[in-house]
Amino acid sequence: MYHHVKKLMYTVNISEPDVRFGNMLLEQFGGANGELAAAMQYTIQGWNCVDDIGRRDLLMDIGTEELSHLEVVGALIRMHLKPLKTNREAAEADPLVTIAGGGGLNLFDSMGNAWTSTYLKITGELDVDLRSNIAAEARAKIVYERLINHTQDPGTIDTLQFLMTREITHMKAFQAALDSLEKSPFSVGLLKPTPGIVDEYFNGSTGDGSEGDSDMRGPWTSSFGLHLVESELNGGKGLSVEDIDGKIDGEDRGKQDGAQKATTSAADEAIGFNDNSAKKNIAPAKRALKKYKTA
Ligand code: MN
Ligand code: MN
Repeated sequence: MYHHVKKLMYTVNISEPDVRFGNMLLEQFGGANGELAAAMQYTIQGWNCVDDIGRRDLLMDIGTEELSHLEVVGALIRMHLKPLKTNREAAEADPLVTIAGGGGLNLFDSMGNAWTSTYLKITGELDVDLRSNIAAEARAKIVYERLINHTQDPGTIDTLQFLMTREITHMKAFQAALDSLEKSPFSVGLLKPTPGIVDEYFNGSTGDGSEGDSDMRGPWTSSFGLHLVESELNGGKGLSVEDIDGKIDGEDRGKQDGAQKATTSAADEAIGFNDNSAKKNIAPAKRALKKYKTA
C-alpha cells in the first residue's frame, strides 16, 4: 500500500529558473540512471524477493526513498522549466516538453527519449541484483556530480547535493547487504566455471597505439589466480578451450544430451556438407552461382 505525504523529502528553492538546465535535469527524472528507474528497479526486485525478508525490506526502503527523490528532482525541474509555459525563447530549449507536455514534467530524458522499462536490471537472483544496484547508484552519483558542475544556483546545488549524497548512502546499504550474504565474490549462481580456463586472462589487444597506448600488465592480469595467456595469433597457446566440459561431476545439469546439433568447426560439416541430403539441397544453388559467375 502506498500513501502520499504532502511534504518533500528535501525542500527545494531556486533563485533564477534556467530552462536549459531544467532540460538537463530531466536526465535524472526520466533517464536511464534516473530516480524513476531506481525506484522501479529496487521496488520490483523487492516484490520478487520473497525468500529473504530482511533484504526485501531493504529493497522496499530504498525503492520508496527513490520515489521520494523523483518527487524532489521533479519539483526542481518544474521550477526551472516554468518559463517554457509563457516565453517563446525559453520554449525553444525544449519544444517537446513545451508543446506536447505543456512545459511540465514528463518521463523523458534530457534528449527527449521516452523512459523505458529496459533501463531496469531485474534478474531475480538477489546477489546479482544487489551488484546491479551498487552500479546503478554509482551511475546516479556521477550524473548528479556533473549536473552540480553545470549550475551556479545555490538552492539547486543544495538539492542536487542532497540527492547525490543519498546515492552513496544507498551504495553502502547495498554493499553491506551483498557482503552479509557471505558469498565468495566470484560465486554467481550454482553451476561452477571450468577450472583452468577460468583463470586465463586473454591478451586480446597487443602492440603499440598512436595515443601512447601499449600492451600493459596490471593487477587485472595477475590477481585472483589470473595469469596472462597470449593469442595463437601472437604465437601464444591461446585459451585452454580443451578444458571445457559442460558436464561436471557432482553437478546435476541434465539439460545437455549427446546429440551434436551444430558446430562452428572450420570443416564443411559445420554447415551440413557431410550430409548427403544437404548436398542435394545445396547443389542447385551451387549450379546457379556458377552460372551467375560465368555470365
Ligand atoms: Mn536517488
Ligand atoms: Mn539511490
